[in-house]
Amino acid sequence: MEFKYNVRDLLFILKEWLPTKEVLELDRFKEYYDMNDIDSILIEGYKVSREVVSPINAIGDKNPVRFEKGVVISPPGYREVYQFLQKNGWGSSSECVVDGGMPLTVFKAASEMISAACPAMGSNVKLTSGAANVILHYGREEDKERFIPKMLNGEWQGTMNLTEPSAGSDVGDALTKAFPTDDPWLYKIKGTKMFITAGDGSICDNIIHLVLARPTGGCKGSAGLGLYIVPKYWVNEDGSIGRPNDVTTIAVEHKMGLGGSATCMLNYGENDECYGIRLGNPPDEKGRSQGLAMMFRMMNESRIGTGFNANAQASSAYAQASQYAVERVQGYIKGERVLIIKHADVRRMLMDMKAHTEGIRAMIYKGFYNIDMAENIKDKAKAKKHDDIAAILTPLIKCYSSETAVNVTCEAVQVLGGVGYTKEFPIEQYVRDSKILTIWEGTSFIHGQDLVKRKMRMGDGVPFANWMGGILSFIEANKAAAGLEKEFRNLEKAYRCMEDVKSLYDVWHLNKMDDLIGLYAIRTLFVCAQVQVAECLLEQALIAQKQIAQLAADHYDINFYKGKIASARYYVNNILPNVFILSEIIKNADLSSQECPEESLVVN
Ligand SMILES: Cc1cc2nc3c(=O)[nH]c(=O)nc-3n(C[C@H](O)[C@H](O)[C@H](O)COP(=O)(O)OP(=O)(O)OC[C@H]3O[C@@H](n4cnc5c(N)ncnc54)[C@H](O)[C@@H]3O)c2cc1C
Repeated sequence: MEFKYNVRDLLFILKEWLPTKEVLELDRFKEYYDMNDIDSILIEGYKVSREVVSPINAIGDKNPVRFEKGVVISPPGYREVYQFLQKNGWGSSSECVVDGGMPLTVFKAASEMISAACPAMGSNVKLTSGAANVILHYGREEDKERFIPKMLNGEWQGTMNLTEPSAGSDVGDALTKAFPTDDPWLYKIKGTKMFITAGDGSICDNIIHLVLARPTGGCKGSAGLGLYIVPKYWVNEDGSIGRPNDVTTIAVEHKMGLGGSATCMLNYGENDECYGIRLGNPPDEKGRSQGLAMMFRMMNESRIGTGFNANAQASSAYAQASQYAVERVQGYIKGERVLIIKHADVRRMLMDMKAHTEGIRAMIYKGFYNIDMAENIKDKAKAKKHDDIAAILTPLIKCYSSETAVNVTCEAVQVLGGVGYTKEFPIEQYVRDSKILTIWEGTSFIHGQDLVKRKMRMGDGVPFANWMGGILSFIEANKAAAGLEKEFRNLEKAYRCMEDVKSLYDVWHLNKMDDLIGLYAIRTLFVCAQVQVAECLLEQALIAQKQIAQLAADHYDINFYKGKIASARYYVNNILPNVFILSEIIKNADLSSQECPEESLVVN
């Protein structure tokens, strides 16, 4: 089945919905790009995704990464495609904060198709971009000169090393240590990291690991962790590759999906010869380091990136299911054999996938737009407002998008019926590949907690109140919109439910009701995410209404705009009402799962 993607929706987001021009006119970008570049970037990105990247997706699934005699071998074609993307501007050099880098809002639209075409390859590129961005922000000039050029041109790749056998969701339990040497920037690293994506393999000549480790004198918990650049092969001062740096791969995981991506267990310093370069300051007098905060720079990108990757996979599964629906003949309507798209329930499934993926995409690009503005405008007060919105959207994007992608990819299998369950079609691979996205970069629970414990309360709750206020203002300004009155009534009702949930959380926080705060965190996140997605879709529907009013009835684009209105109406009338029920469930504050005896929860 041919790789297809909804390029038209990406163009709509960049050219008709978001104020992309405002981003492109910022000092950092204006010399390099303007609105006229968007079409060619997306058309070329689509071509690269179809012709170069999508062919290796099934190859990686059928011939996953191998670990033989201590050597990790990537699937056929992966090295060539990784290097092609990095060398030709489809990877880290466009995504990183360097001269000529693109705004995220624009670059991600091309990158979304690459992620959809091969999720395992997408994560290799994104990890390298994330690691390079951390070095660009926190490294010394000499570190930047030493590592960045080859990370950007595809010769080397990057990883993030947090997880250890006894430190998963709770990173603060990490046991990996960093011992000082005579050189104040150089440390000996010792410990074991597990589940490290792209931790080893044959797609590059060197791997630049960013490793969280506790320096001598570091306090307990996550505050005591520092961050170190630990190359697989030492990098000489002139940038050439030196001796092996005592980083040993001891296992490669056999996984449910993402066979093309090497998930490695790594031993650092088995022979006491592993060295790392410190990023940031040594521990202060209380033993606190900034390692996790620096890693968070990479993780925040990766967290939005995880939601983005999830929606890319869901969108691709939907695109392929929709193609099948106009090819498969089955059943009768009024005595005539029909294509399955004629059946009401198949249309419902396609509409469900369309509305979810378009709505979540809108929320994701709203996030990218706010990051671009926060990082690149000079007015600090305005930048802070953009940063606050991006911070609130990050857990919504990571958790809601990844949880939804699991359902959407399963629904895509359902559209195909029995063949969807076979390996003859590529959709079942998306079901397996997408599940990890609810787990890595923090499980869904971690993001629920991030929302209710941090994002709702940061800055004394002002940024969250502003975010809610933005949605309310939109409702107030547009609720009389002809043809969408019912939808705005639903959004207003859902908004009031969200207000109730927020007030309840204020009470729970005041009374330190930690069991309830955690228990209802993910459901509260769903309430906020569904309200946000509905708002984005209605904003888009208003634009579509205006376009339809101006276009001739037989204009080639008229059905696209009708489809945008249908997505908004479907989401608001069929998905958003979940918020009404969820808010009742949260207010009910049932504790049966906590009160149930542990002995009866565990099946023996
Ligand atoms: C394919 C793959 C690739 C990965 N890539 C990387 C990588 O590149 N770098 C890296 O550092 N890590 C990576 N990871 C690790 C990943 O980030 C962790 O698996 C994840 O953070 C969860 O940790 P854990 O597996 O130890 O689960 P646990 O922390 O043991 O969690 C198990 C369950 O308990 C829940 N839980 C845990 N603590 C709490 C709590 N306090 N309150 C409520 N519920 C809780 C979790 O939500 C989860 O449902 C990868 C993992 C996989 C499978």
